[in-house]
Amino acid sequence: MAGAGSGVTLADLTTLRVGGPVGRLTDAESPAELVAALPEEPMASSGEVVLLGAGSNTVPSDAAVAHVIRPRWSTIDIHPDDAATHLVEVGAGASWDGLAQRAVAEGWSGFEALVGIPGTVGAAPVQNIGAYGHEVSELIEHVTVWDRFAKCTAHLTPPELGFGYRTSRIKNPTRFSGARPRPREQPAPDSAPDPRPRPAPDSAPDPRPRPTPDLAPDPTHLPDPASGQVPTPTAEGQSRWLPRFVVLSVAFRVRLSAWSAPVLYPELAGALDIELGERATLSETAQAVLALRRSKGMVLDDADHNTWSTGSYFSNPILTASQAAALPADAPRFDAGRNPAGELLVKTSAAWLIAHAGVAKGWGLNRRATTSTAHVLALTNRGGATASDIRELGDAIAGKVLDAYGIALTPEPTLLP
Ligand SMILES: Cc1cc2nc3c(=O)[nH]c(=O)nc-3n(C[C@H](O)[C@H](O)[C@H](O)COP(=O)(O)OP(=O)(O)OC[C@H]3O[C@@H](n4cnc5c(N)ncnc54)[C@H](O)[C@@H]3O)c2cc1C
Repeated sequence: MAGAGSGVTLADLTTLRVGGPVGRLTDAESPAELVAALPEEPMASSGEVVLLGAGSNTVPSDAAVAHVIRPRWSTIDIHPDDAATHLVEVGAGASWDGLAQRAVAEGWSGFEALVGIPGTVGAAPVQNIGAYGHEVSELIEHVTVWDRFAKCTAHLTPPELGFGYRTSRIKNPTRFSGARPRPREQPAPDSAPDPRPRPAPDSAPDPRPRPTPDLAPDPTHLPDPASGQVPTPTAEGQSRWLPRFVVLSVAFRVRLSAWSAPVLYPELAGALDIELGERATLSETAQAVLALRRSKGMVLDDADHNTWSTGSYFSNPILTASQAAALPADAPRFDAGRNPAGELLVKTSAAWLIAHAGVAKGWGLNRRATTSTAHVLALTNRGGATASDIRELGDAIAGKVLDAYGIALTPEPTLLP
């Protein structure tokens, strides 16, 4: 465990390179070190204790934070199942892109559309990272978490994780699926995640009825004691509390193949010169994805201010069909399933709304913080920006879209209080 109190700022630890001083930094080299560093108190403020991976989806504030905790272990355990699949369990601190590049080299199909995304493996399920028509949830067998409330490790399967577009139950406790986490046998991790294959009872669905205390809403979904307000689903990722579930490792079910998953994104299919739904080799697909990402400033590069960002600052809005009908005819529309009331949902493009609300590439309130010169959806630090500069720019852009189209954009990254 490394302590580094003085001199470290959130600007040093985030890709936006903004943010206030850090009182104490804990780089946990094992799950046990991480758990020992976490506050005992379930309702710890996320503005005081910050759980951070690589800081590529976090918008700090300029205020000081007391303690930053980062998982740093990057164990990888490969369990061959049969000739067709492997179970690959990876520690939370591993580099996502390192894993995706290794997958392409090893012939593990399914990661190739997700190469070039910055960040850690532990953060990947938090917002169900995705790009070019695929999401990490397609690859996940289970996630091993530390449950800060129950004070035990648990395996969460995809249904229990409540995955959705750029969200999960870890990010947004309101995505409660009705399934309860199953504690593992041991009360606390004392070493790297257990590499043994899981016995069947641990992975089989629990058939018992579940009106247990675990079904109550997470306390992170109860009214804020100060304001009395309940966090709303539109405030995804903006909880003022440290998350209940801390990811220790992620187990991926990987398919052994030299061929990609079906290519589902028109721009990528065009770059590969194939039809939508066809496959290309893993390396061709990964190279095409990296080239597209670079052209949009979406591959980290110290020398390129367009990448001093969190990637997309806003999620693509999910609208009801009637809201979508009010948009101009040429606004993008994608099927997004139905809401619990059965209404058809439509996803539109945040970038389209921003550009058509009058925000150009490279636009800003000052020279320190502007949209990327390659993509209006990325808010970037051009050098010397403060966290307030970035947030004010985000607010100004959201205000323009609200005025023009009546749609409230939701930030995709975690905004620290
Ligand atoms: C240039 C650029 C391009 C990007 N492109 C994409 C893209 O194509 N698709 C995409 O989905 N995202 C993209 N992103 C966003 C970002 O890379 C991902 O969201 C990534 O998963 C964040 O990982 P991180 O480790 O940096 O998370 P951090 O920013 O460190 O943390 C993000 C959130 O996850 C929480 N968290 C971190 N680790 C854990 C853990 N172990 N357990 C529980 N919670 C945890 C944090 O508390 C925080 O709330 C991009 C970002 C940049 C800068």
